[in-house]
Amino acid sequence: MAQRHAVAEARLLKKWICMKCSATHRGAKAPRACRKCGYKNFRQKAAERRKT
Ligand SMILES: [Zn+2]
Repeated sequence: MAQRHAVAEARLLKKWICMKCSATHRGAKAPRACRKCGYKNFRQKAAERRKT
């Protein structure tokens, strides 16, 4: 059961989202610049933990 969750997390952790235009970029590492707007700040798509 924990295994499936880990897979889902791994997928999420390989996405980067431009903080300006929200374009998604795939890959283990953040791109140097957004391909859409050229912005250089990204956030990693968080593996959402629904925990109260
Ligand atoms: Zn962008």
